[in-house]
Amino acid sequence: MKPQEHTDVQEAADFCAWLVRKAEGEFDRLRIIPAIYTEDQWADCRDALAQRLTAEFPHARADSINEVFDSSGSQACVWHPFEGTGGFRTVVMKINLDDCRTGFWPDAVREAQAVTIHEGGHVVGAEGRGGVNSSLFEENTPDVFEVLLKSWLGQREDAEALLQMRVVKPGEASALAVSRRYGFPAVYEEAVALGERYYQRGQAGQGVSLAEMVEAADELVEDRGQTLNQWFGFADAMYALSGETRDPADILGAAVKVGHPHAKIISEASGIAPNLGFMLAHSPNPFLSRNAAFDYPGRPESSGVKPSGDQKGGPYGLGPWPSGFAVLDRDAGWQGSYDLDLNVRDYGPVAAPPPEEPHFS
Ligand SMILES: [Zn+2]
Repeated sequence: MKPQEHTDVQEAADFCAWLVRKAEGEFDRLRIIPAIYTEDQWADCRDALAQRLTAEFPHARADSINEVFDSSGSQACVWHPFEGTGGFRTVVMKINLDDCRTGFWPDAVREAQAVTIHEGGHVVGAEGRGGVNSSLFEENTPDVFEVLLKSWLGQREDAEALLQMRVVKPGEASALAVSRRYGFPAVYEEAVALGERYYQRGQAGQGVSLAEMVEAADELVEDRGQTLNQWFGFADAMYALSGETRDPADILGAAVKVGHPHAKIISEASGIAPNLGFMLAHSPNPFLSRNAAFDYPGRPESSGVKPSGDQKGGPYGLGPWPSGFAVLDRDAGWQGSYDLDLNVRDYGPVAAPPPEEPHFS
């Protein structure tokens, strides 16, 4: 186990500050409060955030603020305009460094950057779409966006790490993590092909706009809606079979038998060979369609159980991050227990919207 270095936290935080500056530079009514922390410091980080939010946004709705505090996970909490924020769309972008130790990426800083970009994809995606976030775009646009920006940064091989994370559980290479929310593997090849264009632009020293990139990601997701639904159908069928088998080889075997379009990429990414000898207890095969999955006789009644666990798994091959937290400040300072020298742009106090700004709700 290689322990993380304190400088790794600095590098992850510098990247986060860079992305925040870039996003705010492109969307002039966007304000992001980034917070970086380790799980054991979440309570302290939360207190620092609470102080800051209540001081700066006294009229923000309590449920919006509570959303920030509900969980310790990495998350982008987007507040609606005019909700006590002086007309700005305000976002709290939380990066839990312990979410960034799945081991799929070449190193933990690269993974922390990936998580930061994913959360950033939620932020600029909501900005581009005016806050409307349908389920199809919700997690798939940020994933595609991640591939595009990573490619522009010259890290196109990181797409494969993301593919693996969306197929197998971190720390449990033999357990499938196919989910109804994250359909990225279904559009993996198209995302990589699109990423190649951004890679070339990055190599040629050409700049890139986050707004343009998130629009391209949205378009890809929209174009491939049917494919993504088939992917979610795979998750539905896994759930339908969960009372019968949870062995990924059996699940892949059942999927291959009826030619499910995503059995191949799941098998390749996970390295798990389908068990073609697996016999279903009922018919028709739940991998035939989403309806077949919902109607499958053996499907467990309780709907509270998800077909896959959440993505937070145990890290492997990586030591812990240095413990601490940093809430990056708008006056180029920070609060927290990391001794970081973070350079966040000073953009002054939140101002009232100009009078001609149209109000909407
Ligand atoms: Zn997400």
